[in-house]
Amino acid sequence: MQKIIVIPEIGNVVIKKNPNNKKIRLSINEKRGVVVTIPLFCKYEEAEKFVYKNIEWLKMQQVAINVKKNNTAIFTPATIIYTRKFEIKFVASITVKFFTLNFGFSSVKINYNMFAVNFEKENVQKIIAKIISDIFQKEAREYVIPRIKKISEVLNLPYNKCTIGTAKTRWGTCDSKNNIILSSSLMMLPDNLIDFIIIHELCHTKHKNHSQDFHKLVNLCTDGKETKFQNAIKTYSTKIKPGDYRYNIDSNCL
Ligand SMILES: [Zn+2]
Repeated sequence: MQKIIVIPEIGNVVIKKNPNNKKIRLSINEKRGVVVTIPLFCKYEEAEKFVYKNIEWLKMQQVAINVKKNNTAIFTPATIIYTRKFEIKFVASITVKFFTLNFGFSSVKINYNMFAVNFEKENVQKIIAKIISDIFQKEAREYVIPRIKKISEVLNLPYNKCTIGTAKTRWGTCDSKNNIILSSSLMMLPDNLIDFIIIHELCHTKHKNHSQDFHKLVNLCTDGKETKFQNAIKTYSTKIKPGDYRYNIDSNCL
């Protein structure tokens, strides 16, 4: 037994009676669309009410499905990103014009106007990546700056100044005056690889190139694991993308 109703904001909704159901269930996917399954004794009107109660959630899922289908975006309204300190979520709202950042206690909400913001647009994706990059930058200032200070002291490899940049293609650089710039994208790496990048740049304070002597020093500072870390880093990218970045593997590589 089933009935199809049309809800203007979301389109067709299939309501199915299922003798095995004890309560109302709502699902949405690309193939079947919106389906509500209800117990035998339940009225179709109740299913409709249930859909209206969950309409914001449904709309958000529909946008996410469209975005995924057209394969044009890496961030969708259903994206959740976990950083070391925050949970970043998108929150649909009718009043917000564009993106606003709310730094909560441990969560960051990126509000968007569900009618005006099209997640498939390239500039929207860029803005989201920028917001996340800013959050990584904030975290990197708190985590990476003290970390390089400590490693520099332990290894006796002094540097001039370290800043956190937003370099999208490199993890870090060290100039002729031993100023080090580290990418905020480091916050997408496990702890031991963050240390590895720091060590790599600190070794450039002694050797400006990637000569044999340079690699010898890096290897010495990483307890003979340069190749291992170098191979591991190849599986990561500096490009900002959704993920779970709460991990810390082996805590550090010193
Ligand atoms: Zn290098």
